[in-house]
Amino acid sequence: MPNELVANIDDQRLNQTFRHAHPADVIRWAADTFGSGLAMTSSFGAESMCAIHLAIGVKPDIPIVFVNTGYLFPQTLVFMEQMRRRYHLNVWEYHSRNDPMVWLSVHGEPDPQVRRNVDACCAANKNEVFDRAMVELAPAAWLRGVRAEQSEQRAKMRMIEWNNRARCWAISPLLHWSARQIHQYMEQHELPHHPLWKQGYVSIGCNPRTCTRAIGADERQRSGRWAGLEKKECGIHLDQGAGI
Ligand code: SF4
Repeated sequence: MPNELVANIDDQRLNQTFRHAHPADVIRWAADTFGSGLAMTSSFGAESMCAIHLAIGVKPDIPIVFVNTGYLFPQTLVFMEQMRRRYHLNVWEYHSRNDPMVWLSVHGEPDPQVRRNVDACCAANKNEVFDRAMVELAPAAWLRGVRAEQSEQRAKMRMIEWNNRARCWAISPLLHWSARQIHQYMEQHELPHHPLWKQGYVSIGCNPRTCTRAIGADERQRSGRWAGLEKKECGIHLDQGAGI
């Protein structure tokens, strides 16, 4: 990215300007500012079609990076393919370099439904993949679907912030939207949820039961991720890999 583009982004002022803006306005600004250097990531999770629909409404061919760890739910892969076809999405699927079963046996993980060492598994099968995608694509800015109410870590994020890890601007147009607003937007535009959403999977990652489980009505949205552990992020959204 040209240095002047990095220097010319007054993120403090922009974060104030966009504090109450509609996500589409933020995406429009990003598309105008970064042009073909704008990409997005998506897990094709429960409510991912909200962010994707907003993004393609502004930039129909936006590259969508999808990280395939090798341990995703089969339903996620089917859902991604369905959405790719239905909405003509420009999905860039990046795979873990590891064979899923071989990696488990080499790293002392005898039960595919359990991870004893989630940090090692995320580092090898998720974060390495994401980092590789970002090096290859080298976007000037990256749209992500994080929301402040999802976790304490996400509540500390800013809508527009420099990300050292991905070496680009990280832009979170949905940061201040509530689950209700997401739901309303999806209803209004008749957007499908991930098929497991109806079964209580509100945040969907990989399929081991230590990594994703359904939640109850009184639980926080990311309670089903690495339940019982401090970990609530795979590391992709943590700058410079902190806490991976
Ligand atoms: S979420 Fe679980 S299965 Fe997926 S990469 Fe991380 S530890 Fe491995």
